[in-house]
Amino acid sequence: MTQPDLSCSNPPHWRLAVIGAGPAGFYAVGELLKQQEIPVKVDLFDRLPTPYGLVRGGVAPDHQKIKNVCKIFDRIASQDHFRFFGNIEFGRDLTRKEMLEHYDAVLYTVGSRSDRRLGIPGEGLEGSHSATEFVGWYNSHPDYREKRFNLNSEQAVIIGMGNVAIDVARILSHRMEELRQTDISDQAFLALDSSRVRDIWVIGRRGPVQAAFTPVEARELMHLPDTEVELEADALNLDASSKKFLQEEAGKDTRKNIELLQGMLETPPRGMKKRLHLLFLASPVEILGKDGRVTGIKLRRNRLLEKPDGSMGAEATDQTFELQTGLIFRSVGYRGEPLPDVPFDDTSGTIPNEAGQILENGKRCPKEFAAGWIKRGPSGVVGTNKPDAIESVNRMLATLNASESEPLEKGEVPDILKLLQNKGAEVVSFSDWKLLEDYETKAGEAEGRPRKKVGTVEEMLEVIRDRRQD
Ligand SMILES: Cc1cc2nc3c(=O)[nH]c(=O)nc-3n(C[C@H](O)[C@H](O)[C@H](O)COP(=O)(O)OP(=O)(O)OC[C@H]3O[C@@H](n4cnc5c(N)ncnc54)[C@H](O)[C@@H]3O)c2cc1C
Repeated sequence: MTQPDLSCSNPPHWRLAVIGAGPAGFYAVGELLKQQEIPVKVDLFDRLPTPYGLVRGGVAPDHQKIKNVCKIFDRIASQDHFRFFGNIEFGRDLTRKEMLEHYDAVLYTVGSRSDRRLGIPGEGLEGSHSATEFVGWYNSHPDYREKRFNLNSEQAVIIGMGNVAIDVARILSHRMEELRQTDISDQAFLALDSSRVRDIWVIGRRGPVQAAFTPVEARELMHLPDTEVELEADALNLDASSKKFLQEEAGKDTRKNIELLQGMLETPPRGMKKRLHLLFLASPVEILGKDGRVTGIKLRRNRLLEKPDGSMGAEATDQTFELQTGLIFRSVGYRGEPLPDVPFDDTSGTIPNEAGQILENGKRCPKEFAAGWIKRGPSGVVGTNKPDAIESVNRMLATLNASESEPLEKGEVPDILKLLQNKGAEVVSFSDWKLLEDYETKAGEAEGRPRKKVGTVEEMLEVIRDRRQD
């Protein structure tokens, strides 16, 4: 990587670290470098050699337009006083103490790496997975490369009805010619190409008015060339409270969803190869199995119940039913993982904070901040992370402005690169990443695809090492 200027310029810069190069991390870096209040140098770390977080490893391969946001992130990364430290994991390569010794302020933007569990019997059976694993697998995320899914099962069941659940359903339903043109991982493409999945059940615990998917995702389902969407005949016979809500309070997304669902209901069966069933008002009770493998799922019917705060909850009835399946995905929300030594709220799966400033035992940490999913929980689209990051950056700047200490650059504290070099860490700079990106893009071009992703960290590092020498 380009050797940084270790000399102290005048006036000294505040050294800032951002940990996690997803949307929240990049938006925060962009704001920090744009502001004129105080001079700063910003280092952005990621545990992977690749930047962009879930834009690379979460957003579905058939949603390439959304990935254009990476061009904005690249412009941010091209500015002075910015460095990328890829392949450096907080907790593995660097500790909280070391970060606080080397930086005037640290911003954690590590996202929500794990997922929420259902807490029902049978969840650990072979064939029961989190959507996180499947999404990571089809997106070539190195953590999920070894995963295998039973695509011999003719029925697949997805628990949850948010956009991630719909992504999973769409990938299982797609015509292969369309997936072939994307940057889906090769192994996922091959496995899906011989998939026997024909019936895909997406299960929501509440009704259509409460469904969490957005109209854009719902509309896409109606245009899948080999798949028809099926709803129960009475799916849109709404209860009185939902009807009232729809007429008086519902936003335009909810109204549009209902309109789209009406369209699905009215479309007569067309005898297509696959069927995608949207099943409302049902919750899983138990995952059934034999010899350690999933054979089915037991569900119960719910009815809607108005809660004291006016929102609609799901209340269990005593009616249960079963679906046969060898493949189940839970998609009931992502969840943050604790970082070593960093405060963590186990209930919400987030870092406790006040407007982005981290709270430790209720007290503000003077130098530590959080943004993105690890700050507010796993909600919102890529763009939602911008105002969220700005709030945290504003808090950081106000704290630095009010600080009585001097920027570390003024003293004898060495650059973090020295520490990483002493530890033998292999740092991937932004220009290194661009070598890898160029390799992936060229390999993709040859096959008419946007890129062909490299699937393991070791291979990524090899590609970078080879090209650095050229
Ligand atoms: C499956 C899925 C599909 C989605 N599809 C869309 C979509 O189509 N459109 C849309 O607008 N939004 C979509 N989103 C939402 C969007 O991806 C998120 O809002 C956004 O990525 C959250 O940003 P973040 O920076 O908080 O977290 P992330 O994007 O998760 O970034 C966190 C980064 O931190 C790094 N990291 C984690 N731990 C460490 C550590 N210890 N040390 C160093 N680095 C670390 C990770 O490698 C990662 O790069 C989707 C989300 C998911 C899960």
